[in-house]
Amino acid sequence: MKALVMYGKKAGMVEVRDVPKPMVKEDEILIQVKAAGVCGTDVDFWLGKNSHLLNPPVILGHEFCGVIVEVGDKVKEWKPGDRVVSDNTGYVCGKCRFCLTGKYVLCEKRKGIGYGMDGGFADYVKIPGEILQRFSGCLMRLPENLSFEEGAILEPACNAYRAVFQDISINPGEAVVIFGPGPIGLFCLQMAKIGGASKVIIIGTQGDETRLSLAQKLGATTINAAKEKVIERVIEVNNGEKVDIVIDAAGPPIVMKQALEIIRKEGHIVKIGWSADPLNISLDSLIANSITRKGNWGYDYISWKNVLNLVRENKIDFNSIITDILPLSKWKEAFMKIRDKESVKIVLKPD
Ligand SMILES: [Zn+2]
Ligand SMILES: [Zn+2]
Repeated sequence: MKALVMYGKKAGMVEVRDVPKPMVKEDEILIQVKAAGVCGTDVDFWLGKNSHLLNPPVILGHEFCGVIVEVGDKVKEWKPGDRVVSDNTGYVCGKCRFCLTGKYVLCEKRKGIGYGMDGGFADYVKIPGEILQRFSGCLMRLPENLSFEEGAILEPACNAYRAVFQDISINPGEAVVIFGPGPIGLFCLQMAKIGGASKVIIIGTQGDETRLSLAQKLGATTINAAKEKVIERVIEVNNGEKVDIVIDAAGPPIVMKQALEIIRKEGHIVKIGWSADPLNISLDSLIANSITRKGNWGYDYISWKNVLNLVRENKIDFNSIITDILPLSKWKEAFMKIRDKESVKIVLKPD
């Protein structure tokens, strides 16, 4: 079968290869991939970043869904023909404090399907038996009203759900600022609206114009930091007041600096965006203003379960966020478009 393989940890070590179709053991499941989302992390891998997560040679693609085509003799819960989505957990230890409290995504030994083990940028992907034993919630049924393309981008929506409802709890009527109009930022916008936010302000910068107009369409007030004064505009839009919640889905140090200037006393800041750059600012205002600052990594079973419930009620717009659907063979075009911010979310389908 054709698969997009990262064959080393250095930049550019990615190519489509012919690899054997995975063999299924008695407790394993084989999924025919129908669609897989390109994540910023995939592009980072290709650019040589975040390579500590990789276990090459490995098939990339950690946001995928499809149809079960084969199950081992011992698999009772699933059958061929089931439409499924994976939360990309491929291995956890089952013994650490995080596994034992259901926080599998935080397991130190966790391997993600699509970087730690073979993923969904391929015709087929295998779900190992061990993970189905240890954490049966790693595989979920795709709701009937969701297409495969939409299902392929559930993962960032779950990430946003966790940031807005589990890391902090938004109260109806609160004002939310989101830095970074990428897919996770746009899902955070939708979650904030679902949570009853009075105002959602999305801040982008140079090159984010397409993404900002999409944010407007989804109901946000937008600010382009390349052209407008962020602090003044936020306060002005929010009727002269500081905001209740800031979500940093961008990453650079300047964002945290600005977040501290626009957040009210006892407000909440959630950081999802990565940056290797040092912060270089005083955090004293966290103390002076009793601010909560929380890092967000991933999601848990509750995030997935509740997002799937929202999906069944048609509460989340996935289609607006998917700007391109391309065959797997055009992966490089897709990766470049994400790198250059020409697209919001791209879904790849096997050729
Ligand atoms: Zn991702
Ligand atoms: Zn563990």
